[in-house]
Amino acid sequence: MNVELITATPEGELVAALAAALTHSDMTPEKLKEERDEGKLTALLGRVMKMGHTSVAEHVSFTFAVSGVSRSLTHQLVRHRIASYSQQSQRYVSLSQPSYVTPPKIGRDERLRGAYGETMARIWAEYNKLLSLGIPAEDARYVLPNGSTTNIIVTMNARALLNFFELRCCNHAQWEIRELAWKMLNLVREAAPTIFSEAGPACVTKGYCPEHDTGCPRYPKKSEKGEE
Ligand SMILES: Cc1cc2nc3c(=O)[nH]c(=O)nc-3n(C[C@H](O)[C@H](O)[C@H](O)COP(=O)(O)OP(=O)(O)OC[C@H]3O[C@@H](n4cnc5c(N)ncnc54)[C@H](O)[C@@H]3O)c2cc1C
Repeated sequence: MNVELITATPEGELVAALAAALTHSDMTPEKLKEERDEGKLTALLGRVMKMGHTSVAEHVSFTFAVSGVSRSLTHQLVRHRIASYSQQSQRYVSLSQPSYVTPPKIGRDERLRGAYGETMARIWAEYNKLLSLGIPAEDARYVLPNGSTTNIIVTMNARALLNFFELRCCNHAQWEIRELAWKMLNLVREAAPTIFSEAGPACVTKGYCPEHDTGCPRYPKKSEKGEE
């Protein structure tokens, strides 16, 4: 899996802080920007985020390039509706070479890894056979597995990301999307440290486990930031 933050709102935290400041100011946003005290604005943004007035974070967007993930992951990812997506097409792109994600629990075991690889080879042989018989890619793809690799560009605003991290950094999330979520969190925390200082799974943001999973290694203590 490769995850890159390819662009973000320029001066995103300043924009969010100005949005917070203007709600309690008789000054115009332009004047507030011109006469800004960056230290005060950062402190204000931190306070507002802690209070849960996170709508100001909607002004800050992040675009990620994600490659080498499975269709199984992207199926879960696109359930997050407050976002924009562009995904590699299985209709327009030739997928004649086997390309798939191997779950670690299968990959670690030599025998399972071999059987998994053979299954994938058979699937792609059938896929290519259908194509060679003139079946269009949009139909031949029906035999391709959930593990097929795919590439996707994702844009989310910071508020949607906070929700995404709560759900998908959690140990209850499936391993592959959890790995993606932690990589994204580490990237945005660098770009917007005030907004994301308290971000993470619900046990970090809420201080308790909504799943009531006393068996989770994170339960009930908060996790360290930036790990995984
Ligand atoms: C561990 C785990 C297991 C899961 N298992 C399943 C499963 O078995 N089956 C399944 O179908 N899904 C499953 N999901 C997906 C889950 O139900 C959500 O669809 C997904 O996580 C997207 O979350 P979201 O709606 O909060 O995000 P977004 O779609 O990004 O929405 C963000 C927030 O906006 C608000 N919002 C968005 N749209 C609406 C709307 N139409 N009406 C009102 N408020 C809205 C909500 O407050 C929402 O939290 C699972 C998710 C997790 C994390």
